[in-house]
Amino acid sequence: MSKMQELLGVRSFVLITGASRGFGRAIAVELGKVVGAGSTLLLLARNKELLEVTRDMCRDVRPGLAVEVQSLDLSTADKEAFEKVVRAHQGSADHEVAMVVHNAGTLGQDGRRVTDLTDMEEMSAYYRVNLFHVICLNSVFTSVFPKSRMAYINISSILALQPLTTWAHYCGGKAARDAVFRVLAVEQPQALVLNYAPGPLDTPMIEELLADRRTHQVVRTMFEDLKRTGALLKPADSAGKLVGLLRRRNFKSGDHVDYYDDKCKEGGGGAEGGGATPTPPPVVTTPQPPQ
Ligand code: NAP
Repeated sequence: MSKMQELLGVRSFVLITGASRGFGRAIAVELGKVVGAGSTLLLLARNKELLEVTRDMCRDVRPGLAVEVQSLDLSTADKEAFEKVVRAHQGSADHEVAMVVHNAGTLGQDGRRVTDLTDMEEMSAYYRVNLFHVICLNSVFTSVFPKSRMAYINISSILALQPLTTWAHYCGGKAARDAVFRVLAVEQPQALVLNYAPGPLDTPMIEELLADRRTHQVVRTMFEDLKRTGALLKPADSAGKLVGLLRRRNFKSGDHVDYYDDKCKEGGGGAEGGGATPTPPPVVTTPQPPQ
């Protein structure tokens, strides 16, 4: 994609998965501030009431913006469901940019080691929500917007690159997503493809992890320390950095870019140029205490 062709500030169709809470909600609000006139945000998740809260937050920061919500379970949605949902909100006129932000994700951790995992149905279910639907939705999205400049954003994690004990599903899903998006970047040289690792975030995902008594002690201690030391990032700050990256595009399409990378430092974040000052990332450790 040419540097001259702006991604932000133009008429866009932006689909965000997992927009009912946490980071997806923050992405919706930050992107809502910077899309061009006539743009549409389509917010997907299962919980419609929470999606409507996100919609209202977007409209507060950007009165008049078209924000559509759609309840959809990504564990069962297929090609036909995605086509139906996207076409229902696509409108008639062409969008200069079509952007899909794959933010929905689940942890899949419950304290078991990778050598405890034998249930193929469970694995299929995990990878359906965290990998397979992403591939399918990208294909559908590409076919629905043949005339638009395409942007495919994968919300990744440092755990796509580093191991964490008892998180085989999560690490495997994130690593595979990164790989798939790298292929997408090669196959779609005109498109903008980004694997964005948002840093450790203060979201319900982390609350649920800490509330789960099965969480491995090493993992629990790591996240408790992040919380106690104030190292968990505000979702809005990380979403602002993502918007800053999309504005500058100072990375190669298909790259994995982390919140703490230098590429995220220049010029801060989103519509108001805000965002926290990056500090070194937390060290993800994988000690193996006796069980
Ligand atoms: P979260 O609070 O658990 O939110 C997850 C979102 O995904 C929710 O909106 C949820 O909506 C949606 N979702 C989950 N299962 C779904 C399904 N079957 N169908 C449709 N939607 C589904 O998570 P988060 O912390 O905001 O994380 C967002 C993304 O950032 C994830 O990909 C995560 O891996 C990544 N990330 C998070 C952190 C962190 O520290 N939190 C760090 C690095 C990367 P419904 O429940 O309404 O369906």
